[in-house]
Amino acid sequence: MSESPPRPLRQLADVPVTALKHVGEKRAASLEQMGITSVFDLLTTYPRRYVDRTKQVDLSDLALGEEVAIFGEVVKCSARRTQTGKAMVEVTVTDGASSLKVVFFNQAWRERQLTVGSQALFFGKASDFRGTAQMTNPVVDVIVGASGEERDPSRVGRVVPIYPASGKAGLTSWEMGGFVEESLRRAGQIIDPLSDDQRRAHDLVERTAAFHDIHSPTETQDLAPARRRLVFDEFLRLQLLLALRRRRLEESAAGVAHPADLADLATAPGSLVSPARSLVAQFLAGHRFALTGAQQRALADIFSDLTKLRPMHRLLQGDVGSGKTTVALAAMLAVIDGGRQAVLMAPTEVLAEQHVASMRRDLAGLVISDTAVLGGSREIRVALLTGRLSAAERRRTVADIASGAVDIVVGTQAVLTGDVLFKAMGLVVIDEQHRFGVEQRASLRDKGRTHSQEGRDPDLLVMTATPIPRTAALVMFGDLDLTLVDEMPVGRLAIETYACSAAQTATAWSRVREEVAAGRRAFVVCPLVDGSEKVEATSAVAERDRLEAQELKGLRVGLLHGQMKSDEKDYAMEAFRAGIIDVLVATTVIEVGVDVPDATVMVIEDAWRFGIAQLHQLRGRVGRGQHQSYCYLLGSPSTPDGERRVGALVESHDGFFLAEVDLDLRGEGTILGARQQGRSDLRLASLVRDGDLLAAARDTANQMVAESPTLEAFAGLVDELRLFVDDEEANYLFKS
Ligand code: ADP
Ligand code: MG
Repeated sequence: MSESPPRPLRQLADVPVTALKHVGEKRAASLEQMGITSVFDLLTTYPRRYVDRTKQVDLSDLALGEEVAIFGEVVKCSARRTQTGKAMVEVTVTDGASSLKVVFFNQAWRERQLTVGSQALFFGKASDFRGTAQMTNPVVDVIVGASGEERDPSRVGRVVPIYPASGKAGLTSWEMGGFVEESLRRAGQIIDPLSDDQRRAHDLVERTAAFHDIHSPTETQDLAPARRRLVFDEFLRLQLLLALRRRRLEESAAGVAHPADLADLATAPGSLVSPARSLVAQFLAGHRFALTGAQQRALADIFSDLTKLRPMHRLLQGDVGSGKTTVALAAMLAVIDGGRQAVLMAPTEVLAEQHVASMRRDLAGLVISDTAVLGGSREIRVALLTGRLSAAERRRTVADIASGAVDIVVGTQAVLTGDVLFKAMGLVVIDEQHRFGVEQRASLRDKGRTHSQEGRDPDLLVMTATPIPRTAALVMFGDLDLTLVDEMPVGRLAIETYACSAAQTATAWSRVREEVAAGRRAFVVCPLVDGSEKVEATSAVAERDRLEAQELKGLRVGLLHGQMKSDEKDYAMEAFRAGIIDVLVATTVIEVGVDVPDATVMVIEDAWRFGIAQLHQLRGRVGRGQHQSYCYLLGSPSTPDGERRVGALVESHDGFFLAEVDLDLRGEGTILGARQQGRSDLRLASLVRDGDLLAAARDTANQMVAESPTLEAFAGLVDELRLFVDDEEANYLFKS
C-alpha cells in the first residue's frame, strides 16, 4: 500500500463526523451537542484523563474512606424509590473476583446508563454499609457500553483514554475513543508546520505522532511529549495571530513621532534646568521626589516608543502605589511638548476627579508656549470631562479641546464619544482597565484617530494595577508590549498584615482606636454578601450601627455603599478624607483607587470570602502616606482555599506573587474570563504549567513574522489559522 501524501490539518475540518463508519445521524446529533461536527473537532477533543490498567485497584484491596477509582463491569442494576420518595439506583460492579455495591440517589437516568454488561470507572469513597462496602453517588465514566459490537478487545490497551463524554448526550467514552481512533487512522499523516530545526530547538515531537500518543498512548510515558507538542501548537497559533494583528496595525498606522528624549529621564529633583529644556526635564527638576529605578526603566521603554512613528501599544503593569501615574504624566508631557494633547481614561468619575486634582498639583508652574495667548506662553491645562459637567461647562470644555487650549483631558471612556473632537490627540492612557479586550483596544485606537482633527493614531498606554502572571498577560495582552513597574518608591513602609480569628478581633478594634487617637483614620470592609447590592448595603448599615454602639463606641463612624446616591458617596468620601469622620464602614465600592494618605488601618471582615486580587486592592487603600499602616483580616476561614488566600496576603505584599497564587487557586478560566479572545483554541494549554512553552511559542511566532513578511514560508501554518478566525478577520490578517 502506498502512503498518501500528508494532508493539511485544515482539511480535517471539512470532513464531517458522518464520514466515519460508526457515526450515523443519531450519533452525529449527540456529538454536535458536545460541539463536535468535524474530524478535526474529534482530534482536538482530548482525553480528560487516562487509566493505566496495569495500576488498577482490585476490589478486594479496597480501602474504606479513601478516594479511589474502581474499574468494573456492571452485573446487576435496579431502580426503586426510597421511603422518602427519592429515586435510587443500585448497581453491582465486579472486577471478576470481588464485587462492590454502588448507589445513586436522585439520578434515575443511571439505570439507562449503567446497563448490565457495561464497563465503567467509578470515582469516589467507599464506605461500610451494614457490613458491606458501598460507594454512594460516585463520578462515573462509562468506558464500554453494554452492546457487544463496542467491545472490541483489541482496543483495551494498557492505557485507556477517558473522554469528556456526557451521559446526557448519550455517548460513552468508549464510543468517543472509537471515533477518534478511526479519525486518526483515516487522517493518515498530517502535515507538520514546524521544521526539523524548529522541533529540535524546542524539543518537540512530530505532530502526527503527538496526535496518536495523546489519544492512544502505549505507555503513560508517551503522554507528556505529545501534550508538550500540542500545547506548543496552541500557543504558537495564538501568538502568531497576535503578531499578525500587530503587524497589520503597524502597517495601517499613521502615528506621530513625539519629541521624547531619554536623556531627560536622568533629571534629578532640584536640578537647575533652563526654561528652554523639555517639559519632562522641567517637571522632574521641580518634582517632589526622584523617579524610582522602575519608573525610569518604564519611561525609557515608553520614550523609545514615543519617538517612533509607529504608535505605541504598551501595557504598564505595576502594583498599587508603585507610581504608574507619575510615569503616565511624564509620557503625557513629552507628547504635549510636541504640541499635542493627551487623554487619561479612568474607570469611574470619582477617580477621574482625583486624577485631575493631583495632576493640577503636580503640574503647577509648568509653562508651555502658546501663540494663541497673550505673552506667548501659559500654564499646562488639565480639563475634566465627565457626565457631571453642566451643559455649559461641557460646551466650553469641548471647545477648548478642539482649539487646543486644553492639553490633558481626563474622563471616563465617554471621552472618546460624540462631539468631542481633539485638535491633535497624541497619547491615550487607560487607567485600571484590565478588562478591555483586544478588539476594544483596537477600536479605541481607531476612535482616537477619528476624534482628532489631525487624523493620526494616538499612542496607547494601558495601565493596570491588578498584577497578572506573565503567562496570563501574554495571552490577554499579547497585542501589547509589556512593561513592569516592579519596585515601590523608597521609604514606603510595608503594611503590617494580620489574620485574626473570631476570638482575636479585639486587637483589630483597639488598633483602630489607637490610630484614630493619633489623628489617623480607618476603613472597615463589610463581609461579602452573595446576591444583591441591596442586601450588601443593608448589612453595611447594620454593621456600622453595631460598631458605633459597641467596638468603636465614641468614634465618628461613616458609611459608604453602592446603594447611596453619588453625591452622598462623595460627601462620605470627602468627610472621611477631611477627617470629619474617623472610620468608614464600606462595601467593596472602595476597592479601586481611593486615595486618603491619612488612612492607616484597613479591617476586612470575613476576609477569606474575598478573592486574592480584591484583598490586595483593598489593602492598597492604606499605606499611601508616610505613616505605618495596618491591615486586619478577620474571620476564621472555613475553606482551605480561603485559608490560603488569607495566608498569602499575610505572607506577601508582592502583587505578582499574589497573582501567581491566585492563578494557582482559581485556574486560568476565571482569570482570563470566558470571553477573552484567544481562549477558544487553548484546550490543552495551562497558563500555570506551560509558561515556558508560551514564551517559546511567542518567540517563534515573532521570528516567523519578522523573517517572512509575506508569510510565504509559513503558508501551512497560516492556512491552519483559518480554523480559528472568521473569514473577515482572515482576509484582513492574511491579505498581502
Ligand atoms: P499607582 O497609580 O501605581 O497606584 P500612584 O502613581 O498613584 O501609584 O503613586 C502612589 C503614590 O506614590 C502617590 O502618592 C505618588 O505621589 C507617590 N510616588 C510616585 N512615585 C514616587 C517616587 N518615585 N517616590 C516617592 N513617591 C512616589
Ligand atoms: Mg493609579
